[in-house]
Amino acid sequence: VKLTFTTIYSKGKGSAGTIAVLQDVTDQEKLEESRREFVANVSHELRTPLTTIKSYLEALEDGALEDPQLSAKFVSVTRNETERMIRLVTDLLQLSRLDSRQAVISRELTDVAEMLDEVADRFSFQLEQRSIDIAIQVAPEVGEITLDRDRIDQVLDNLVSNAIKYTADSGLISIGAHRPEPQLLEISVQDNGMGIPKKDLSRIFERFYRVDKARSRSMGGTGLGLSIAREIVRAHGGTIMLESELGQGTRVTFTLPYTLNEEAAV
Ligand code: ADP
Repeated sequence: VKLTFTTIYSKGKGSAGTIAVLQDVTDQEKLEESRREFVANVSHELRTPLTTIKSYLEALEDGALEDPQLSAKFVSVTRNETERMIRLVTDLLQLSRLDSRQAVISRELTDVAEMLDEVADRFSFQLEQRSIDIAIQVAPEVGEITLDRDRIDQVLDNLVSNAIKYTADSGLISIGAHRPEPQLLEISVQDNGMGIPKKDLSRIFERFYRVDKARSRSMGGTGLGLSIAREIVRAHGGTIMLESELGQGTRVTFTLPYTLNEEAAV
């Protein structure tokens, strides 16, 4: 609770009195605080790649350009950092649209099994390179559901790319879909990777929250993947949760409601 005193002056007469205002500001202050933290995070996240790019460009200017091998390496680092900044800004724009409810969810009827197969296809090169196996299991009653295909693809891509990022070579990723209730689709992405310490679990969906910032960055992560996934799932009227055991693996599960028409088709 905040107490503010305001002195009222009336023309020519000096002070006319004081107004005391009692106000519950805890929520407001929390919001302000998280906004400040967000801006500080964004600035830091953009500054880091920019500083790297600057130092590599300076090294090129200072003579590395003459060395073909070195210059190729420096240019490639610079390009990677630029790409990460583009991803970051794209993610931020997407989050800001979802926040301001400007994002229109345009649903189309989608075959879930087909959609999951396509996700695995998109990652087939990376999976093969790292010898990671992917298993997809779709219960027969899952069928079709209306969803915003582009956005749910993004959720799936974020979850599968995390599963790949945080799993050692020769690991296993399982994607499952089933229908625990007639009007509910449940999709889970599970890996047998490094897992997440208990103390970090409650904050894992927060923007820019990462267990290991350096590792995430070196993997090209922005720290926004899970928060974007949560906003998209919420915009569909669903829920998302993450379970993890350190050293054992991680499972992210999200639900999406079937619309009435699909429910009738059961
Ligand atoms: P990032 O771009 O850093 O991957 P995310 O928002 O997608 O950002 O994830 C936030 C953090 O959660 C990651 O930095 C990582 O520490 C942790 N994380 C997410 N998914 C997994 C997973 N499958 N296994 C282990 N840790 C994970």
